[in-house]
Amino acid sequence: MAAFSISEVRAMEILDSRGEPTIMTRISTEGGFSGSFSVPAGASRGRSEAFELRDGGKRLGGRGVLTAVANVEGPLAEVVRGRDVRRQWEIDEAMVRADGTKNKSRFGGNAILSVSMATARAAAAGLGEPLYRYLGGVGAREIPVPFMNVINGGVHAGNELAIQEFMIVPLRFNTFREALFAGVEVYRELKSLLIGKYGRSAKNLGDEGGFAPPIGRSEEALEILVGAIEEVGFSGKVKLALDAAASGFFDEEDGKYLVDGRSMSPGEMEDFYLDLVERYPIVSIEDPFHEEDFESFSSLTKKIGGRVQLVGDDFFTTNVERLKKGIKMRAGNALLLKINQIGTLSESLHCAEVALRAGYSVMVSHRSGETTDPAIADLAVGLRCGQIKAGAPARGERVSKYNRLLEIEEELGSEAVFAGESALGID
Ligand code: PEP
Ligand code: MG
Repeated sequence: MAAFSISEVRAMEILDSRGEPTIMTRISTEGGFSGSFSVPAGASRGRSEAFELRDGGKRLGGRGVLTAVANVEGPLAEVVRGRDVRRQWEIDEAMVRADGTKNKSRFGGNAILSVSMATARAAAAGLGEPLYRYLGGVGAREIPVPFMNVINGGVHAGNELAIQEFMIVPLRFNTFREALFAGVEVYRELKSLLIGKYGRSAKNLGDEGGFAPPIGRSEEALEILVGAIEEVGFSGKVKLALDAAASGFFDEEDGKYLVDGRSMSPGEMEDFYLDLVERYPIVSIEDPFHEEDFESFSSLTKKIGGRVQLVGDDFFTTNVERLKKGIKMRAGNALLLKINQIGTLSESLHCAEVALRAGYSVMVSHRSGETTDPAIADLAVGLRCGQIKAGAPARGERVSKYNRLLEIEEELGSEAVFAGESALGID
């Protein structure tokens, strides 16, 4: 039907939450409906991610995306114009083919993703469906468990913490609303505990809205988190998760990990995690090793994969080939899904499908550089994967995702189900 046929593709350079330029694209159809998407950006990027096209040169430190904007309005518009927005896979495939490179380096993964997601939004609008239902159908009624990054370290903060993310995970609640606000109670308590212990500078925030206190040791962060959870009466209901983002503290020269003032071999690093999961209520660890160390990832999975979720982010980069390698080696038991790591919605959906079919769980994720676009909230509900990480319950670009989930839960009414513990696929 001509109404769904793409008539116009417009893009512009906007800003992300770090004040960096990013791209927003709007797709309009003959029938007069439209959809847009704003692309996020990572700081701790995996090496195998889709190419993020930046202008280079002097302007904005080379970070501009005007070339990507021109690619959307020029060659990519040419590829998609006249196509039916409901044919997502066809449109994505056509863009990938036209780009012709392995990592989307010709037009830019950021340019391609903006068109891909705006297409889905336009299709949903044309069908009069919310995005989550367009993506997931009538079965899409499960609201994901939020993984809230409340203490920021690594490259997301200016402190000494090697581990990048200390997350709280409200698991044992009946609704998403209850779970989210339990997380907010913990966040508030954490703030006052941090100020009490380290002074006012401890309330400074990192890139994902979590606190960036002057803490140097992982255990210190975990202790204060456990204290905050206890203080507000949620012990046993709110658990903990880590994103080590270990590529960030791996020294390639000597093959050692630099954590908490120690230099550790992969074996010692494994012992470090084994010890942490014994002592703290940790239900999930992401990127525990350097992104190419599948062997160590596999070894840790063998030891604790039955009771702790082990998530591959930089390991898999939402890339089916890398995920399949992980599945074969039983490295990790969960996929972190970031649509801009691979660059199209279709490839992201395929990757999630491969993961779920192999018995891996899936966690939809934001990036450290975000916009207020809440599309990943809809994606998590649409995928029925039961997990999302979108940062702290603070700052506009983070809460836009959580607020969207509140809205979806409200809209679904009695049909809504909170994913809860079972989403993690562990005992
Ligand atoms: C992450 O590592 O999971 C993350 C969200 O950070 P970034 O977007 O910087 O890769
Ligand atoms: Mg990560």
